[in-house]
Amino acid sequence: MLQFNNTYHKLGDKFYQTAMPNKVSNPALLFWNDMLANDLRLDTAFCRDKSKLALYFSGNKIISGSVPVALAYSGHQFGQFNPYMGDGRAHLLGEVCDKDNIQRDIQLKGSGQTPYSRRGDGLCAIGPAIREYIMSEAMYALGVPTSRCLAVVSTGETVYRESEKPGAVVTRIAASHIRVGTFQHFSARGDVESLTALTEYTINRHYPTIDINTDGYILELIKSVGAKQIELIVQWMRVGFIHGVMNTDNCAISGETIDFGPCAMLGVYHPGTVYSSIDKNGRYAFGNQPNIAQWNMARFAESLIPLIDEDAEKAVELVKPIILQFAEDFNNAYYGMLASKLGVHSLALIDKSFIKEILDIMQNQELDYTLTFVQLAQSLNDNEQAEQLKAALGKWYNNWLTLLQEANIDHNTAEELMKVSNPVVIPRNHHVEAILQECETSGDLSSADRFLKVLRSPYQQLPHTNEFQDLPKDGDVNYHTFCGT
Ligand code: AMP
Ligand code: MG
Ligand code: MG
Repeated sequence: MLQFNNTYHKLGDKFYQTAMPNKVSNPALLFWNDMLANDLRLDTAFCRDKSKLALYFSGNKIISGSVPVALAYSGHQFGQFNPYMGDGRAHLLGEVCDKDNIQRDIQLKGSGQTPYSRRGDGLCAIGPAIREYIMSEAMYALGVPTSRCLAVVSTGETVYRESEKPGAVVTRIAASHIRVGTFQHFSARGDVESLTALTEYTINRHYPTIDINTDGYILELIKSVGAKQIELIVQWMRVGFIHGVMNTDNCAISGETIDFGPCAMLGVYHPGTVYSSIDKNGRYAFGNQPNIAQWNMARFAESLIPLIDEDAEKAVELVKPIILQFAEDFNNAYYGMLASKLGVHSLALIDKSFIKEILDIMQNQELDYTLTFVQLAQSLNDNEQAEQLKAALGKWYNNWLTLLQEANIDHNTAEELMKVSNPVVIPRNHHVEAILQECETSGDLSSADRFLKVLRSPYQQLPHTNEFQDLPKDGDVNYHTFCGT
């Protein structure tokens, strides 16, 4: 049913610990991602048998050819280095080739304790499992690089959190689970041999155009991973995604979004927006994500110092300009993205300060980020909407119309670009929470299915779309998210 390639396993036992998933009492399939199963070329007859899927994707049965392992990694958590992390509640089953011949990891999460669990129970409650499923599907449909979920299976076990919760296992598919923290793990231990093996494996799997036989290939890798991070964070900023816990162990080298624990969506535009209950200082606030991505890239580069030059000081001098360049490259990509949200295809046609002005207006007037861009697009061919925006945004609105005219961008062209740059619907926090509540308490998954259908076409107004577009009544001022539940 699945042809596993256990290439990570072949790296040797410094990279993981073998560990078997828990057996659970009553596995039942809650969500199954047909489209993803198809992309992974899973056998269609097998995919129709829900009870079999529940057995395999709860960890009760191991697919033949899989060698389950918990991965070794370290990481900076809120800026503090923790050398002892690793998969405390996840099992990598192995890798498979998808229909595009891209190798993908299949991982169970919430599947029981591993040698890395420390005091954790190795489990996952149903709410966070479904949350990861919904959020990652939404991100995928929005066009943001992301890991995805193949299945959510309820286990029949109780998980003890602030109260008793039903347990679940979520199956995560990712380009790999190599993180900045994986590099830090070997670097911190002075294990240059493993660091070299990891680097070569990473290049081969994710950056195959880099030639490891040329001088400076490590610097190339740092630049390439940085460029992928820029693409990723720019996309987060485009759709208003707040990751919430950008620790270096949650920063995937592939450039995918991983770990949806405390993530949330921006409503009213404010760069200081934070929802994670443990992020007291706003380290991972919406507007600080670019800085943190750069900080994480500095940690990545630092971990590779031993491979760059025997003279560490010389290596640092080689790396510094790459990390500094990150900020400038990010800035250009970021404003380029915002320009397209305003219907302008080239940054050469619009001033960054003019773009910044609309963000400031949104911040000062407490306007919704998603809705404002949708209204701007509509206003190009809707007089009533145009009048309203003129009143709300004042001079800026007229200046924007003048800019389009002077750049020779007609309204239809601008609107087309805006329609593919600005989602009409995002997984708004209050809807996500209401749906999780419903799934957890009544076991009724029908609203979740309806929600997913809408989220899978975020740039289109479908019959059910408006059910999920309303803004939160309290502006999410009391909204909090939690890690590791
Ligand atoms: P996260 O906040 O999800 O990035 O997790 C940080 C670290 O804590 C990782 O090493 C996880 O494997 C571990 N962890 C999180 N939740 C649990 C749990 N319930 N049991 C064991 N380990 C956990
Ligand atoms: Mg994590
Ligand atoms: Mg997590």
